[in-house]
Amino acid sequence: MILPADFEDSIRSFMDDEEYASFFRALQENSPVSIRLNRRKPFPATADSVEEPVPWARNGYYLSHRPSFTFDPLFHAGSYYVQEASSMFLEQAIGQFATEPVVMLDLCAAPGGKSTHACDVLPEGSLLVANEVIRNRSQILTENLTKWGHPDVVVTQNDPSAFSALPAFFDVILSDAPCSGEGMFRKDPAAIDEWSRENVEICRQRQRRIVADVWPSLKPGGLFIYSTCTYNREENEENVRWICREMGAEPLSLSIPAEWSVTGCRDAGDPIPVYRFLPHRTRGEGFFLAVLRKRGEEKGRIREERHPDGRTNRKKERKKSSSDKEKPTKVLNWLTETATEHYDLFAEDDRMFLFPKRRTEELDALRQSLRIVRSGITVAELKGRDWIPAHDLAMSAGVFLRQGVFPVEPLSYEQAIGYLRKETVSLPPETPLGYVLLTYRDVPLGFAKHVGNRANNLYPQEWRIRSTRLPEEAKAALR
Ligand code: SAM
Repeated sequence: MILPADFEDSIRSFMDDEEYASFFRALQENSPVSIRLNRRKPFPATADSVEEPVPWARNGYYLSHRPSFTFDPLFHAGSYYVQEASSMFLEQAIGQFATEPVVMLDLCAAPGGKSTHACDVLPEGSLLVANEVIRNRSQILTENLTKWGHPDVVVTQNDPSAFSALPAFFDVILSDAPCSGEGMFRKDPAAIDEWSRENVEICRQRQRRIVADVWPSLKPGGLFIYSTCTYNREENEENVRWICREMGAEPLSLSIPAEWSVTGCRDAGDPIPVYRFLPHRTRGEGFFLAVLRKRGEEKGRIREERHPDGRTNRKKERKKSSSDKEKPTKVLNWLTETATEHYDLFAEDDRMFLFPKRRTEELDALRQSLRIVRSGITVAELKGRDWIPAHDLAMSAGVFLRQGVFPVEPLSYEQAIGYLRKETVSLPPETPLGYVLLTYRDVPLGFAKHVGNRANNLYPQEWRIRSTRLPEEAKAALR
């Protein structure tokens, strides 16, 4: 690996010769492979490649090798997310500070590594707003969050400046903004060619702009989590110091064991609590994270804070009546008690979706200011005059779909891959006609409609496996 001379100088400015040699050696090694399991879905014991846990993430595991994820049906079913281990450290920041239900914004969220993780570690009853400014990346984010199956999520597609319409709205904001990507050199050598001092400066400026844009929408007393996957001090310590200085934020310390070998502050100023992952010290790629608290008195709940004139109640009524529009009994019958007790069912255009009752007011506010890509869990879609079960419902991990409503048909590996390629499914002739939930190793993959001589494949067209080759390793699963 040949590194740009300016990059080497930048690293050597905070490492002595001996440490730089270890760092350089680590960059020549293979990237570790790691996954994070979905705590709401079963992960059948196929994980023969699971080696050891990631110390800072309850459901994170290193794998001994990189399997062909595309050809693993459980990957498409959202049983796990393939995520670089160091970045799973987000769990510590959320877990140690967010102890009550919160409204969290993941501002730069695609493809969804940290959003899917946040879903699993935020206190129950929290709401996650996952935002991605680039349109096609917001689609990938939506796909990954749908597969993850967590209901208390809104996906938005907005520039950070749009959030100024929501002052003091969020309890937690994560900014995992675009960076110079030095921490990805080993995993993605193309990042080396894109690196330049000029680009570091562009990133540093952009990161500051993003923070400044979104800062007003953080509540006083709220948490700001700043992260990058780069090593240089300009985009890391310097930006954290800038946030402290310009925004008056207070940096917070995390309590972590020394054996994790996470490195601290690497600049010359007074030490501030920041967390660096360096590949010669921790098993993972380069990562940086800091937690800051917005100064000011912690206010009450959003609803009291934002509408002191009582507008809240009017909005709530409006929302409720819209959710009470006549719903086909057929759809209501598909849902569990959890769904009907704790979630409102909204009809909107040609879909029906569930959204947590306690968060409908926040949804209303988000809708007034932002471009919403997805909210809650879509349970039914209108096709012609018929409401059909939506893919989200299959992905909602059994929480919302009442058992026994649809016949369940387990698929073999080969059938599962065929289904995910959007091929026609053939079901045993005794399968009842109508909608059928297809599973692979007890994990729902999606729906098909059995029409007698064949079954129509309802897997989302745009998410299908496009590759027609089947790698040798995947073929082994057929045996
Ligand atoms: N948090 C993501 C995860 O864990 O999967 C990775 C985020 S990636 C480092 C940064 C994201 O910021 C990209 O998806 C990129 O499209 C988006 N982005 C690019 N320019 C941006 C801007 N000016 N403001 C906000 N986000 C931007």
